[in-house]
Amino acid sequence: MKCEHCTRKECSKKTKTDDQENASVDVPSPAQENGEKGEFHKLADAKIFLSDCLACDSCVSAEEGIQVSQQNAKDFFQVLNLNKKCDTSKHKVLAVSVCPQSLPYFAAKFSLSVTDASRRLCGFLKSLGVHYVFDTTIAADFSILESQKEFVRRFRQHNEEEPALPMLTSACPGWVRYAERVLGHPVTPHLCTAKSPQQIMGSLVKDYFARRQNLSPDKIFHVIVAPCYDKKLEALQEDVPTASRGSRGTDCVLTSGEIAQMMEQSDVLVRDAALDTLFGDVKEEELRRHDGAGSDGYLAHIFRHAAKELFNEDVGEVTYRALRNKDFQEVTLEKSGEVLLRFAAAYGFRNIQNVVLKLKKGKFPYHFVEVLACAGGCLNGRGQAQTADGRTDKALLQKMKGIYADIPVQLPEASTHVQELYQEWLDGTDSPRVQEALHTAYQGPGQPTDSRDIKW
Ligand code: SF4
Repeated sequence: MKCEHCTRKECSKKTKTDDQENASVDVPSPAQENGEKGEFHKLADAKIFLSDCLACDSCVSAEEGIQVSQQNAKDFFQVLNLNKKCDTSKHKVLAVSVCPQSLPYFAAKFSLSVTDASRRLCGFLKSLGVHYVFDTTIAADFSILESQKEFVRRFRQHNEEEPALPMLTSACPGWVRYAERVLGHPVTPHLCTAKSPQQIMGSLVKDYFARRQNLSPDKIFHVIVAPCYDKKLEALQEDVPTASRGSRGTDCVLTSGEIAQMMEQSDVLVRDAALDTLFGDVKEEELRRHDGAGSDGYLAHIFRHAAKELFNEDVGEVTYRALRNKDFQEVTLEKSGEVLLRFAAAYGFRNIQNVVLKLKKGKFPYHFVEVLACAGGCLNGRGQAQTADGRTDKALLQKMKGIYADIPVQLPEASTHVQELYQEWLDGTDSPRVQEALHTAYQGPGQPTDSRDIKW
């Protein structure tokens, strides 16, 4: 049997019911039935989630499966141990970048404020031998700013013959993988070309930071701490400008849950430490986040920017209206009874399916959709806040939501570091370097191999 959401004939996963939206199912793949657990699912403890449904035997090659399975604590400790050996030729600078949706997990799990949790996590990683610990919020700043520009450009270019809208977000690797590998055309041309925060952080660390430190990119081992397993898969595809020099932007992704396990099992003496920045000795003064409940806030930021840029309207609070369920919401900008902008947030597979269906039918009322594979958004990623039986720890998640909401919001435009980096690193806001470092391309618009199998 195959996944309800996977349309590939050869997909071997199981159908799930509506109320199991994004829940795990303990169904072995044929390989697992033969006692050979797929490497990816070994990592995910043999659970099949919506967000990793594409990581079934058909959608992830054997080679990818091996590379994903290699991104684990063992890989990380191997680098730490080599750094302790006399052979300096094998030493690497270890940099860890933490996603903002991971910090509330550590805070809730260890009953700390989010600031104390970040200092504890940073202190723990440094006590192990990590040299730098960064926050990926700066990379999300770039991703949102580039998405804002792209939306305005698409809106102005849009016409019946060559539709440039809707624009669909591309920061969630679970969704992008699904769009690329299963849906292909007509969905991929609608994906925003701005790279995800993880991909941009890879460029910042292996390109900008490496140059600043006079290091070759392959002398840096870059780890991302993330809320989901899907980001391990994403790390394999990062086309950073440094790739030609034999170094990926991200060498290893560890989930928040994997790091928490290391913290619980470790007996190292931890001295709390402040997060580093990419700018020499400057330390991160204050944690901040983007608007949006459990995501990096693409919808809210792009909505405000577009309202101002296209209609000269100042939007204060963004008001969401729940439609079919709490994971499908709508935001509109109206003037004199006319809808000027219609945005939606679609989280979880059921809602994604509806979006895609409407898109195919040509009855699509939205200019923009923030798409996330996990119901509830990134705080509910499958690499954190899980009970022993692989279900969401609802009490912990509730606590995490409160903690995340209390982090101060800062507009990406307000970051002086970002403005400086545009000039210093990318030669301006509209240069070829911006295109290379901050944008990507997707499969298509040609037909994917199995697109004929799609049942709309
Ligand atoms: S919604 Fe967030 S946590 Fe879930 S798969 Fe996408 S990026 Fe990962």
